[in-house]
Amino acid sequence: MEKSKKSFLWVIPLIIGIIIGCIGISYLARANSISLPSMSSSDWFYLKSERSRYLAIGIVLSIVGLFGLILSATTFILTNTAKKVKNTVKTTITTSQTILTNILSGKKEDNKVKRYCSYCGSLIEEGMSSCSGCGAKVFKENK
Ligand SMILES: [Zn+2]
Repeated sequence: MEKSKKSFLWVIPLIIGIIIGCIGISYLARANSISLPSMSSSDWFYLKSERSRYLAIGIVLSIVGLFGLILSATTFILTNTAKKVKNTVKTTITTSQTILTNILSGKKEDNKVKRYCSYCGSLIEEGMSSCSGCGAKVFKENK
C-alpha cells in the first residue's frame, strides 16, 4: 500500500501545477484583453495599473505552475530511477552472495537441498534466515 502511494506522488505536483498554470494563463489573457485608451483619457492610469497587476499575477502563477510540472517530472524520474537502482543493487548483492557461497562451500552446492520461499518462490541463500525476494522470515532446515 505504502509503495503504490509513493510511486504516484508525482501526480500531486502535476495536478497542482496544471491548475495554477491555467489560472496564470487566464490572468495573462485577461491582461492582454485590456486595451488601453489614449493617455489623455481619465481611466488610462487605472487600466494601465490593472493591466500590470493581471500581467504580474499571470507571470507569477505561470512560473509556479511550470515549477509544479518540473517538480512532478523530477519526482517521477527519481521514483522510477530509485526503483531501478534498488533492483540492480539487490540483484548484484544476490549474485555476489551466491558466487561467494559457492566459493566458500567449495561448490558443494549440488549436494545441498535448495530452499525456496513459500511466499514468493525465491531461492533462499544458504545460511539466510529471511527471503531476499520478499523479506519473509524463513525457518532453517533441519539437518
Ligand atoms: Zn520470499
